[in-house]
Amino acid sequence: MNKIGIHFGYFNADWETDFLKQIPQVKHLGFDILEIAPDAMMRRTKTERQRIADFALENEITLTFSVGLGADYDLASENDDIRKRGISYTVEALKIMNQMNIRMYSGVNYGAWNTTFSEKISDKRPAWERSLKSICEIMKTAEDLDITYAVEVVNRYEQGILNTAKEAVEYVKQVGSPNIKILLDTYHMNIEEDSFSEAIHTAGRYLAHFHVGEANRKPPSLSGRMPWDEITGALKDISYEGAIVMEPFIKMGGEVGHDIKVWRDISEGADETEMEEMVRNSIHILRQKMAQ
Ligand code: MN
Repeated sequence: MNKIGIHFGYFNADWETDFLKQIPQVKHLGFDILEIAPDAMMRRTKTERQRIADFALENEITLTFSVGLGADYDLASENDDIRKRGISYTVEALKIMNQMNIRMYSGVNYGAWNTTFSEKISDKRPAWERSLKSICEIMKTAEDLDITYAVEVVNRYEQGILNTAKEAVEYVKQVGSPNIKILLDTYHMNIEEDSFSEAIHTAGRYLAHFHVGEANRKPPSLSGRMPWDEITGALKDISYEGAIVMEPFIKMGGEVGHDIKVWRDISEGADETEMEEMVRNSIHILRQKMAQ
């Protein structure tokens, strides 16, 4: 059975939280996974991180890492100092993960997230090659630590290197490591792919992590317009065994609202109980459709 997870940003205005409260909260809602970010862990001491890892284990919650690299750590940067800083940052994140026994490192982990595209994108090959060079250096650490490194295919407004599953397959083949995999996200697929089903089949055995959300980043529901039957059907077709992690962002304000560009109250005034009810419903829908 696929594990179902949620990104911690759903419950928080900023990219920080009290994980010792969040872990039992998501467990209580019925999740298997809490997806967290490297920065929040890097700000903590080794002892504090270990406390979180131990507490997750006690609560039977699997932790996963998802990152959106800052411009200062752009693994595809033309500036070699920035690129090397990105490599050091990533290696550090992987080491922290290993200490916490976390095995999934996903997201925009191959270049800068919300990039400004200073370079002309009529030819993205140079950026692609620089990204590839950085990742190939990093993969040795990922392999040694047994960490899966899933590159997220995102929409054109957030990154230019990997916008489709087809591009991601070419990219992971070029990296050529058993630990490099793909993360697809319905929110981004809705913008860039011709077909959800075809994209999932294209990613095939390289698909190791899957993000779900409605087109406006509401939690998966039957009143949205994502074709959940088609999406879950394709996941079952390829015998997908990885995690399904929802990434809903529906509140304005704070770092999360700003970085995700939430410019209206998408939640329509939902309070915490209603927010919890929405994702509880999403879990139910996903479990039911994956079991059919
Ligand atoms: Mn995502």
